Amino acid sequence: MIKSIRSAVSKHKAMTVGVLALQGDFQEHLDALRRFGAPSRAVRLPEDLDAVDRLIIPGGESTTIGKLLLLYGLMGPIRERAKKGMPLWGTCAGAILMAKRIANNTSGQPSLSLMDITARRNAFGRQLDSFETQLSIPMVSKRPFPVVFIRAPVLEDPGKNVDILASLPDGKIVAAREGNLLATCFHPELSASTAIHEYFLSL
Ligand code: GLN
Repeated sequence: MIKSIRSAVSKHKAMTVGVLALQGDFQEHLDALRRFGAPSRAVRLPEDLDAVDRLIIPGGESTTIGKLLLLYGLMGPIRERAKKGMPLWGTCAGAILMAKRIANNTSGQPSLSLMDITARRNAFGRQLDSFETQLSIPMVSKRPFPVVFIRAPVLEDPGKNVDILASLPDGKIVAAREGNLLATCFHPELSASTAIHEYFLSL
């Protein structure tokens, strides 16, 4: 673990990391957080959100999660908290929900629309539907680490305040940050490395 991140994690021992638990692989995020001792809590209702300091939106199906956010009364409250500076991290479907623009949003899917970036859903097509690769994210870890892509989006047209954290060799943007907002197109919770979870805790 990078030293600065380790100190951030221990400094924030008192914080509770929320994981949106409406649909998708929220359990894997909760397990990853538990692996390095970060207090965590599943978020299903607005009162759960009140009890957490930061929030992860997991991978899953962004259209379904968007509809459930409305149904469970969480769309407005999450948007408000994120605008006030709560660290928010979306993985895969979560990243799609955070983007202000969805390139192929034909169904008018509900979304949090927070980050000045475009998400292109299912950008790897059928053949490359799911794959694992080594990714280098210097901000996060000194060494490349394995990441899993599952029917993943890519990020495009970053606004001027968006930092690109990682791209694939062909230039596709797969991780970006805008202040308190972190979006990754892959699933760090499905690999052994907790580097990005630790990075998120340092925000
Ligand atoms: N393809 C899904 C969507 O568009 C995202 C897949 C994932 O989260 N692994 O919502």
